[in-house]
Amino acid sequence: MNNVLLKNSYGLFIGGQWTEKNEKLPVLNKYSQEVIAEISVAEESDVNASVEAAKKALNTPFSPYERFEVLTKASELLLEQKETIANVLVQEVGKPIGESIGEVERAALTLEVSAEEAKRIHGDGVPVESAPGSENRKAVTMKTPVGVVAAITPFNVPLNLVCHKVGPGLAAGNSVILKPAEETSLSAILLAEIFEEAGLPSGRLNVLTGEGSEIGGYLTANQEINMYTFTGSPRVGQLIRGSTGIRKVALELGNNSATIVHRDADIAGSAIAAAQKSFNNAGQVCISVQRVFVHEDIYELFLENMIEATKALKVGDPADASTNIGPMIAEKEAIRVENWVNEAVSQGAKLQAGGKREGVFYQPTILTNVDPEMKVCRNEVFGPVVAVDTYREEDEVIEKVNDSEYGLQAGLFTNDLRFAMKAAEKIEVGGLIINDTSGYRVDHMPYGGVKKSGTGKEGPKYAMEEMTEEKLIVFQS
Ligand code: NAD
Repeated sequence: MNNVLLKNSYGLFIGGQWTEKNEKLPVLNKYSQEVIAEISVAEESDVNASVEAAKKALNTPFSPYERFEVLTKASELLLEQKETIANVLVQEVGKPIGESIGEVERAALTLEVSAEEAKRIHGDGVPVESAPGSENRKAVTMKTPVGVVAAITPFNVPLNLVCHKVGPGLAAGNSVILKPAEETSLSAILLAEIFEEAGLPSGRLNVLTGEGSEIGGYLTANQEINMYTFTGSPRVGQLIRGSTGIRKVALELGNNSATIVHRDADIAGSAIAAAQKSFNNAGQVCISVQRVFVHEDIYELFLENMIEATKALKVGDPADASTNIGPMIAEKEAIRVENWVNEAVSQGAKLQAGGKREGVFYQPTILTNVDPEMKVCRNEVFGPVVAVDTYREEDEVIEKVNDSEYGLQAGLFTNDLRFAMKAAEKIEVGGLIINDTSGYRVDHMPYGGVKKSGTGKEGPKYAMEEMTEEKLIVFQS
């Protein structure tokens, strides 16, 4: 495939200006491991300049309708450049081309939904006159922007997760300072170029690239930033939470998602869905299926089907349309996954598929005979590995699913309404997906976890709740 990148060196985007820095970080093609471009490394002064630019931009009116227009235009431009940007994702993430195209289309939709939501921001009437002594008062609330929002995003879905912060952030009337993941910043930079072309006022979106451990510290130290919205690992989420005092923080963190396959489930359908959602993007998805609990009565048949579906997946060059699974983000991550699987096997787990690493690739792997204390069950694998276990009783499987410090989403295959209702009540997650795996997400739904999976919701409408303040106005006559 041709290298479709327009430039091989990219600058920071601050106050509507692109500035190249002397210090650069290479961005690798994750399949070939070649350097495809360099990104500028922001310094503390750049962080502070972007905060000033973001604050200044807030002084220029940017009406909800203007936000709608800019976001709609950006969504259209993104679709116009679908192939180019998808090819960037193929290279910088190692994401198969079909999935990469899907990510660009999703990102355009996220901006479109954000545009629509920009027109729907509203407060409430508050019946203060109902309180004794308040008969001559009236009250309303209005939603005001929080101000300057710092958005920090992970490597795995680098365009759409950026849109999930930039879209609602701008729609709600804020200025956004974006710090994309260093491994995959190019798609975020191209998105900023698109916003520039779409007519976004200067300073409303600023992009700072470089190492998160450095820039993150400068961002959290800057007291002029009003809110932090972070998607990434629990470790970094906790660091941000710990260093931002009483300022607003929304955290979308990790998970070790479970999916239950009940005795009445469509065995072939659920096995194929589980195989797809365990391994897409090489398992580097926060709602990737990591733990499957199958009712004893159908376990053997389900496993047979899932192994068959897994063995049919093609691992290889992400630019090849027939590839299902590309490389992991870095060889050290593939080695970590290899070590966890080997450790599980040494502790008694049985390999049913995969279990092999070749450089940056890890084969899609199914383990059975697992114990909940194994790393592949207890921790977030964030790789193409799934642990399949059995259960007999409903309460037993609910307990197994809840035996996790995480709680983002779970899946449940059943047509038994009574069990589905019970699971909906008892399973400790932000979202339970009935008759599908944990790996379902669209932009209209509230998305976010409980327990160590985070606080706050995404989905443009819900993220905008987080990114606005509810201000009360009381009138006395
Ligand atoms: P990560 O936490 O390593 O990095 C995420 C971002 O934080 C990057 O931009 C990075 O540069 C930045 N960062 C690093 N150190 C920082 C610091 N000290 N202060 C501030 N920012 C810092 O995560 P990752 O490896 O890119 O992504 C994988 C993780 O993201 C997994 O745990 C996954 O579950 C999670 N994730 C969650 C969701 C969700 O919606 N809940 C979605 C996607 C990924």
